[in-house]
Amino acid sequence: MTTVPFIELNDGVSIPQLGFGVFQVEPDETQATVEKALEVGYRHIDTARIYGNEKGVGAALAASDVARDDLFVTTKLWNSHQGYDSTLRAFDASMEKLGLDVLDLYLIHWPTPANDTFVDTWKAFEQIKADGRVRSIGVSNFRMQDLQRLFDEGLTVPSVNQIELHPALTQDTLRAFHAEHGIATEAWSPLAQGAVLQEKAVTDVAAAHGAEPGQVVLAWHLALGNIVFPKSVTPERIESNFASTGLTLSEDELQAISAINRDERVGPDPSEVS
Ligand code: NDP
Repeated sequence: MTTVPFIELNDGVSIPQLGFGVFQVEPDETQATVEKALEVGYRHIDTARIYGNEKGVGAALAASDVARDDLFVTTKLWNSHQGYDSTLRAFDASMEKLGLDVLDLYLIHWPTPANDTFVDTWKAFEQIKADGRVRSIGVSNFRMQDLQRLFDEGLTVPSVNQIELHPALTQDTLRAFHAEHGIATEAWSPLAQGAVLQEKAVTDVAAAHGAEPGQVVLAWHLALGNIVFPKSVTPERIESNFASTGLTLSEDELQAISAINRDERVGPDPSEVS
């Protein structure tokens, strides 16, 4: 029986460190996929308005007999909905699709620096939290200067920053900045969408432990303190990814995996997304 650790966020809310991501899960497959994840033991689901599958996530939650208090649900505000009033409306629309009264974590999906709207958007996030409709608020794909801008405006320090992070893009500088400011690091594309699973450092460690490469990469994230939510529509992978909490790597093994870093993204550069 594997146990998922919890991480305490800067507002006192606890988040399961291992969750399940649903980016690129087809809307009509989402309910069954999330039901499978819940059956395996995942209690933290990461979706977004732009994924088009919040309804399927909500249907799976409604059909499940897992108590609401044992579930942790994140969704994200899409770029075109940024701005104070449009954020409030977009939040209501996401909540209706998810069928929830209170959300666990709401994120600004991208800073879209060229649009210069994330400060007003963040003020709407603060209001939603003050109204008790979300337990924690955070950001995604924020660069150091974007986080600094929120600090300079005297606004709430985000509870998390969800960024692309995996062995080929270890984000050491941004992770240290998060730690300095009490922001938890969430790692998106934790497996680099599969691109790091054939790395020799990963396959060597996997062979030494009789484990799957995916489990090794997830165990590396967990040891570093990252919050992760690998995506899979394959039942065996949904199971084996969950079992990564049972794998402990040595300091040398962790360092060998970190040494894969080549600052290489599989997704877009936040400076360029608008
Ligand atoms: P992941 O790194 O989780 O990789 C998913 C891919 O790897 C899928 O193709 C999946 O295939 C495959 N895979 C999963 N497990 C294994 C395994 N054990 N062995 C081999 N292959 C495996 O990528 P994602 O981009 O989906 O990231 C995870 C989550 O992060 C997303 O679902 C989303 O919630 C979040 N995210 C957030 C972003 C943001 O901007 N905030 C951007 C991107 C992602 P298959 O499904 O066919 O099994």
